[in-house]
Amino acid sequence: MAARTDYDIVELISAKAIAARVETLAREIDAFFAPTEKLVVVGLLRGSFIFIADLVRELESPVEVDFLEASSYGDSTVSSREVRILKDLSGKIEGCDVLVVEDIVDTGHTLAHVLKLLAARRPRRLEACALLDKPSRREVEISARFTGFEIPDAFVVGYGIDYAQRNRNLPHIGVVRFRGEG
Ligand code: 5GP
Repeated sequence: MAARTDYDIVELISAKAIAARVETLAREIDAFFAPTEKLVVVGLLRGSFIFIADLVRELESPVEVDFLEASSYGDSTVSSREVRILKDLSGKIEGCDVLVVEDIVDTGHTLAHVLKLLAARRPRRLEACALLDKPSRREVEISARFTGFEIPDAFVVGYGIDYAQRNRNLPHIGVVRFRGEG
């Protein structure tokens, strides 16, 4: 089905609020992993690319960055429960401290799948950080140790997060409101 274009975006979290939270998250993450020889920050593509860029610049731990791409919603706004790995890590994580960075934990299927996959590679420590969490949508019992903001059940875009590949470049996070749907 073709993506809709008849929608407005209503601001939910301002760019200023995101920046402030990213800074405090970085302090929490540094404190949790200290001391660490190396923290491998694994960004889940593509929605986390701006978040991870801002987050690693606030971290004081020695950091390496890698990326993993799991299948997403495609051009739809509803989750498919089947998770496929489209791009695997470039490096090895055995014996490393690893932080998986996701844009949104929604049903939890993606994070659960990725954590299981990476845990099998025997990292020293494995945790997750999600910018946004929609706890009311959860289908799998999982949560990220570090969460930026809890949000209601709404489809959001901006700050790296898309609808049909658009709106990733918005500096804030907003809710998509399709016209004629109240
Ligand atoms: P889950 O597997 O937890 O249901 O979904 C996780 C992924 O679904 C997120 O990483 C994100 O790519 C996508 N997702 C979940 N909620 C939203 C949303 O409100 N907007 C967009 N654009 N993607 C979402």
